[in-house]
Amino acid sequence: MSNEWPHRPTIAHIDLNDLAFNFRSVRKFIGKQISYMCVVKADAYGHGAADCALRLEHEGADWFGVAIPEEGEVLRMAGITKPILSLGSFWPGQEHKLLDLEITPTVFGFRAAEILDRAAAQRDTVANVHVKIDTGMGRVGVPWRDAAAFAARLSQMSNLHLEGMMTHFAAADDLSETAFTNAQISRFQEAVAAFRDAGFSPNFLDLANSPGAIAHPDSHGNMVRLGGVLYGLGDDVLPSGIEKPALKPVMSLTTKLAMVKQIPAGESLGYGRTYYTKRDSIVGTVPIGYEDGFRRSLSNLGRVIVNGQFAPILGRVSMDWTTIDLTDAPGASVGSEVTIIGQQNDLRITAEDLASQMETSSYEVTCGLSSRVPRVFSSGTERE
Ligand SMILES: *Cc1c(COP(=O)(O)O)cnc(C)c1O
Repeated sequence: MSNEWPHRPTIAHIDLNDLAFNFRSVRKFIGKQISYMCVVKADAYGHGAADCALRLEHEGADWFGVAIPEEGEVLRMAGITKPILSLGSFWPGQEHKLLDLEITPTVFGFRAAEILDRAAAQRDTVANVHVKIDTGMGRVGVPWRDAAAFAARLSQMSNLHLEGMMTHFAAADDLSETAFTNAQISRFQEAVAAFRDAGFSPNFLDLANSPGAIAHPDSHGNMVRLGGVLYGLGDDVLPSGIEKPALKPVMSLTTKLAMVKQIPAGESLGYGRTYYTKRDSIVGTVPIGYEDGFRRSLSNLGRVIVNGQFAPILGRVSMDWTTIDLTDAPGASVGSEVTIIGQQNDLRITAEDLASQMETSSYEVTCGLSSRVPRVFSSGTERE
């Protein structure tokens, strides 16, 4: 989006003070002298990676986690100097740029390890790597049973330094799966022991994502990798019924009414004519649609807040527009503020609320906000 145009009023507000609050709150809750990796992959779960990382670095983040090296480059361009881990390793061809940008990759395959070892040798340097162990996620990582064999081969690559070892939990958010989470922890410990036997001494041992860090204190190792909780996305990602740190949602999403009209009872609205007015209605049109990440599955299901009242979505959400029922929100007019995620007076809609209507997780809601929606950052108490 060009910065030179005044933009459409559909805006995601990112409160960097709330981000800082969450980081401090989680650190205080964990209360240990361990390292904190702030996971800012996927543009900080849709919150804007550069701005979020700069604030978190200022707050004392030790590491940043990204999914791919390209996301690490965005952080370096923004001036981030702390170490960056590419959680998803790297692809052949990216090794030199990775070394130029001082982005540390995870490795879990011989091929990537050999490519990086060779690239580092060409530059007469030693590249740090973190080995990812698969202890039951079944996605990426050295299968824990193969740890000793992997360690033996890695020990022949003289231009690599094993700086860390990590694993990732499959179900740390589900307390009925605690036995499995504990099994993942002990498999990881076995893998670490195999690497130690092969002569390695990794500085960082990290297992826990947000639910691991909050619900499974035994999983902390000496670093935790926090994503969701930093953005205040807790309710659907942390188990219920446990003690939790205070968290504030960092993102709110607002727009303004573009059109308000009277529609008599019995008329259809929108594509596919999926809604017929049941009464003489006041219908508002809001400039947000599925291209923005306001998904079509919210058709005839979701709601927004206008003038301090909930206003249900009527008919299909289309690519760029959504129609809402203002009949019970008198006084709403063109230009009235519409809250899609956030709070108006005592009414609130959270990313978790939208997620449950969309049958997904809050992470997908905030990640799914497209680049068409400008992120406006504030670090004072006033909205910009
Ligand atoms: C995304 C990710 C995290 C962060 O997970 P949250 O649940 O958002 O805290 C941690 N570790 C790895 C390997 C990840 O991919």
